[in-house]
Amino acid sequence: MFRQTKSVLQKLQYLSFNGQQHTWRLKSTSARERALQYQPGQKIHGFTVKEVVAVPDLFLTAVKLTHNKTGAQYLHAARDDSNNLFSVQFRTTPMDSTGVPHILEHTVLCGSEKYPCRDPFFKMLNRSLSTFMNAFTASDYTMYPFSTQNGKDFQNLLSVYLDAVFFPCLREQDFWQEGWRLENEDPTDPNSPLMYKGVVFNEMKGAFSDNERLYAQHLQNKLYPDHTYSVVSGGEPLAIPDLTWEQLKQFHATHYHPSNARFFTYGDLPLEPHLKQIQEEALSKFDRIDPKTEVPSQPRWTSPKEDHVTCSPDPLAPDPNKQNTVCVSYLLGDITDAFEGLTLSLLSSLMISGPNSPFYKSLIEPKLGTDFSSVVGYDGSTKEASFSIGLQGVDEEDIERVKQIISQTIDKIIENGFEERRIEALIHKLEIQIKHQTTNFGLSLASYIASSWNHDGDPVELLRISDSVAKFRQALKENPRFLQEKVRQYFKENTHRLTLSMSPEESYLEKQAKAEEEKLQKKIDVLSDSDRKQIYEEGLELLAAQSQTQDVSCLPALKVSDIEPTIPITPVQISTAGGVPVQYCEQPTNGLVYFRALCNLNTLPEDLRVFVPLFCSVITKMGCGALDYRQQAQQMELRTGGMSVSTQVITDCNELDTYEQGVLLSSSCLERNLPHMFQLWSDIFNSPHFDDEERLRVLVMQSAQELANGIAYSGHLYAMTRAGRHLTPAGDLQETFGGMEQVTFMKRTAAMADLSQIIRTLPRIKIHLFNPDNMRCAINSTPEKVSDAAAHLEGFIKDVAKNRKERKPVRPNIIEKPINPLDDNGPRRKLISEPTFHPCPMKTFFQMPFPVNFVSESIRAVPFSHKDYASLCILARMMTAKFLHGEIREKGGAYGGGAKTGGGLFTFYSYRDPNTVQTLSAFGNGIEWAKSGKFTQQDIDEAKLSVFSAVDSPVAPADKGMGQFLSGVTDEMKQSHRQRLFAVDHKNLVDVAERYLSAGQKTCGVVILGPENDVIKKDPSWIIK
Ligand SMILES: [Zn+2]
Repeated sequence: MFRQTKSVLQKLQYLSFNGQQHTWRLKSTSARERALQYQPGQKIHGFTVKEVVAVPDLFLTAVKLTHNKTGAQYLHAARDDSNNLFSVQFRTTPMDSTGVPHILEHTVLCGSEKYPCRDPFFKMLNRSLSTFMNAFTASDYTMYPFSTQNGKDFQNLLSVYLDAVFFPCLREQDFWQEGWRLENEDPTDPNSPLMYKGVVFNEMKGAFSDNERLYAQHLQNKLYPDHTYSVVSGGEPLAIPDLTWEQLKQFHATHYHPSNARFFTYGDLPLEPHLKQIQEEALSKFDRIDPKTEVPSQPRWTSPKEDHVTCSPDPLAPDPNKQNTVCVSYLLGDITDAFEGLTLSLLSSLMISGPNSPFYKSLIEPKLGTDFSSVVGYDGSTKEASFSIGLQGVDEEDIERVKQIISQTIDKIIENGFEERRIEALIHKLEIQIKHQTTNFGLSLASYIASSWNHDGDPVELLRISDSVAKFRQALKENPRFLQEKVRQYFKENTHRLTLSMSPEESYLEKQAKAEEEKLQKKIDVLSDSDRKQIYEEGLELLAAQSQTQDVSCLPALKVSDIEPTIPITPVQISTAGGVPVQYCEQPTNGLVYFRALCNLNTLPEDLRVFVPLFCSVITKMGCGALDYRQQAQQMELRTGGMSVSTQVITDCNELDTYEQGVLLSSSCLERNLPHMFQLWSDIFNSPHFDDEERLRVLVMQSAQELANGIAYSGHLYAMTRAGRHLTPAGDLQETFGGMEQVTFMKRTAAMADLSQIIRTLPRIKIHLFNPDNMRCAINSTPEKVSDAAAHLEGFIKDVAKNRKERKPVRPNIIEKPINPLDDNGPRRKLISEPTFHPCPMKTFFQMPFPVNFVSESIRAVPFSHKDYASLCILARMMTAKFLHGEIREKGGAYGGGAKTGGGLFTFYSYRDPNTVQTLSAFGNGIEWAKSGKFTQQDIDEAKLSVFSAVDSPVAPADKGMGQFLSGVTDEMKQSHRQRLFAVDHKNLVDVAERYLSAGQKTCGVVILGPENDVIKKDPSWIIK
């Protein structure tokens, strides 16, 4: 994977894992207490303890060590969390754009001395109960993290990871497969044209089809033009074919050495066994070297610079004439100064976050652009940090104006400073972030310290956030102009700044394709007949190697018997408040209260459904009650951990044609702020502001831009959603809410000169949604605060009672189900049933300006509680690992692909795929493979492990009980599903493949997003969009 800081951080938030509260209550000595007993100077398994520090805010003890023989650095964070994490990172500082660190990241995972089978990394996904396994290439380091809750699994994975990074095979064939190669288009036909293939080659072509990504890359390369940041560490597609296998091996020898490594472990497992294993299996075999990988400081410019780049036009851009991006980027100080880093990132939030910030007021509100530029704010991922500010979606004529405003705004900030309440709100936000328990805490820590530590900053200092916050408060107290002076120093007087604009160029893609073609032709022109013959033979060899069944017995593995037979029960209580059903779940939430409400849409006229996502995205941002939108944003920051509304489509767990539709309200707050949080919700229910057309336009443009930008990155999700559209009623609604249909709807809305129709529509939606008659609520809090929360919730329901109104559902078939399936007389939820729904097959092609495709095929299957569902889950996983991965990624050269179940559908997909119809054939062949039964018990067991590692992935205290609240899936139902998963056997798998997936049996939707395609154009069975 190639890492882009912003998107990875966003992704981290979606991962969900479990904080292990149960263990620490039972243990007499906690992991963090035990770790406090280490002494500086103590020698353990070849390491010396350097420092032991308690970090009470984060509930951990940090132990810093150095490896005596090699100088490798080590940090252990002892914390009572069973989701243990390991990561090793190397400083990788390429000096060209061949993508050498990225291709190396891929190839070391293709087999090692002790584990010589092909692709042990992917194989381990199925032999482990890992909660996370991945590898990232950043601009200046490469990181290999994994996490698991099982101690034996930790040892297994550690062994595989250590061997992979320190003793990889780096076979020439691995380099061809993962990096680049010349090969016949059809490897079995020596007369078919030669072309470039390779996983990273295609991955990077896909990455640079994303204009935001492209802009970010240019900006970094040009702001730091003198060393490693001036090149593309992930690989410039046209430069990738300059890399040789020899260069790859050389880069490994100099960079993947313990003297250039930083190890990080986290969790409740003891430190010593980790050290012992790392010493014995890896470090003891090395001597110290001087890796010479330091990044020098960027020489400062004496005057600012300007530059310009081009990109491909975006057909989904809200306004085709406004597709320019312009931003100013400033080089700041060294990131190893932890306090300065925190100060600058807080300063950055004050300058750009939310409608009260100066840059939001000066840049976003005048609507000179659709949104901030993709790169915005403080970025500490390079040795010296940067700050960027600018806009995307700008008219060419307005570019100068944007530049002027940026400089005027900086002057204004220096003059006026920031309101005290905004600084308070920001520090409050930090407090909530620290208290909020996430389940991937180890991984977040690893990412948080990675950059600074990479340049020899002190990771422990970075963890002591409260110390830095106190220092920040002190600095403000001593000098009220503290922040203004920083702005003067880093922005006003900084001559190392770059203004970079990017504009669309009609022939951009054509030019790119031509450049690739020329480069290819040059390579081909010098080939002799024997070279061609060799290429053909090597292609066949690779194909043969990829098709070979492998002996993976060298790899360690957990057994199905290592999986917990039962799940722990999460107790919830269901009662009512003011007639509204409420679910209470007591959890160690660390002083936070989490509130959710689901409001169903059953009475909403159907022509308004397409407006619901827009309603959700603006309803907490337009002002309410006595507060205008700025004051509302201020209150939300000061009093809550955020308030949001999102659409929900929930397929029933028993019936495929039954579903629940609604919007989900979510918010959290510190216990002391309960009354304030509910007051805000009351105001939103009772008197939301919808009239401010200017404000609405800003929000509409931002949403439309965000949707248009997301497709290049998440095209597979759009393809999958669309493929399911005509298969179930829920699938149809999903497409309306979050598919291509919604993208085009928002594009149309953003282009409207007059938004008064929308302004008239929003209150109509509100009447149907914010009706206590259609609502149920959930509270997660500590046991001590439940009754307090209940009282405030009751008050809220009373406050909004006047919105209560009995209305007729628009669909005739409403089914009521008890919220607690074991209590038939308790409160109920209302689902829509469409017994006459007819699924219909359809093939749709969306032509997009990408050089790669996203392919999906979705098949109507069975709901969660059906007896065959478990078999289909195991089958999807097994097909992915044992068949589709080889066909779509290894042979096909796509970045990824596989099959999954969910929403009653069995869905195939590929990601950043050079192929289209070939991939559809691969899906079909996968089904044939399953029907033929050519898989072993070992394959089935591996698929089970993999499915269970997802089923058992930890759940944060904030999210406990949510499955039952939203879908009515109780722990008992989960346990039955679990038993069915354990019981799946060979016969079941062949049987479900035949009954559900066979050509004659299935109803399926097929969707491809991709560049112009002649084969599909000529085939009348396709609908072309
Ligand atoms: Zn990659």
